[in-house]
Amino acid sequence: MPALRFRNPAFRTLIRARVARVTRLTPHFITVTLASEEMGGFDYLGVDQAVRLFFPRRGQDGLRLPNSSGNSWIAKIYLIPAAVRPHVRNYTIRACRPDAGELDIEFVAHGDDSPASHWATHARPGDEAGLFPEGIQYLPPDPRVPQLLVADESAVPAVLSILDHAPAGLRASVFLEVPTSSDIRIFPALAGVRVHWLPRDGRGGIPGALALETVRAAALPPGEFYTFVAGESALPTGLRRHLVNDRGRPRSSVTCVGYWRHGRASLG
Ligand SMILES: Cc1cc2nc3c(=O)[nH]c(=O)nc-3n(C[C@H](O)[C@H](O)[C@H](O)COP(=O)(O)OP(=O)(O)OC[C@H]3O[C@@H](n4cnc5c(N)ncnc54)[C@H](O)[C@@H]3O)c2cc1C
Repeated sequence: MPALRFRNPAFRTLIRARVARVTRLTPHFITVTLASEEMGGFDYLGVDQAVRLFFPRRGQDGLRLPNSSGNSWIAKIYLIPAAVRPHVRNYTIRACRPDAGELDIEFVAHGDDSPASHWATHARPGDEAGLFPEGIQYLPPDPRVPQLLVADESAVPAVLSILDHAPAGLRASVFLEVPTSSDIRIFPALAGVRVHWLPRDGRGGIPGALALETVRAAALPPGEFYTFVAGESALPTGLRRHLVNDRGRPRSSVTCVGYWRHGRASLG
């Protein structure tokens, strides 16, 4: 049987939330904490679990959400007139506290012209948002096998969350590309996990190119290993090609997730 490529929560529904707090973590990362009384039923799976985040268009008062459960929001959202239809974007749940009715999202602040980046940069306590839980794609087939985790800044929250949930004894090489040295985080050291921060610091190239180039030249674990790579689409596709074609890794040992495409806005 082929390995599972994703796992969804058992129960999924669209909930209304409000911004509780906004914290500027580093020059390019902002944590927005969202709170909802409906979070109790949230099926939190940890690791790289994401949400669809719904937020109002710029200058719009209030948030119009489709009235739906399960996946039916996808059809129903198009019944909302385009001028007041919310934006929808994918974001990782960096941390979740269902008992407190809160979750944190870490946004890359990549420019005020982009809707989600603008929303996070200007978010204030009380602002409305919608949340629909998505699934996880980080699915190592055997936790004893060493891992290679690679991300540009958009997937740094996913990899840090994966490390937060790491089993004792995890052996991993981790490559995290960030815009500047000031975006490097202090992270509790885990025995067996080696983290390489890769700041671009003004060096040109699109996000993810430095991580791809670095991993291509790196000494990787001998023998079997599982890879999770996410970020601008050229990073996951380029790294999978390299691992399969040049390092002889089976395709099934690589979870490769395109989070965004350079020069292309997300739909919605
Ligand atoms: C499963 C999943 C989880 C994700 N988790 C996170 C997360 O936790 N944090 C996070 O910040 N992002 C995350 N992303 C990526 C995020 O959804 C995209 O970056 C999204 O395009 C941002 O929306 P926007 O409205 O800011 O830009 P868009 O309107 O989609 O794009 C506008 C322009 O900005 C460019 N752009 C988009 N994202 C970036 C970026 N990060 N850096 C530079 N340019 C960019 C586009 O190429 C386009 O030219 C995730 C994506 C997926 C699929």
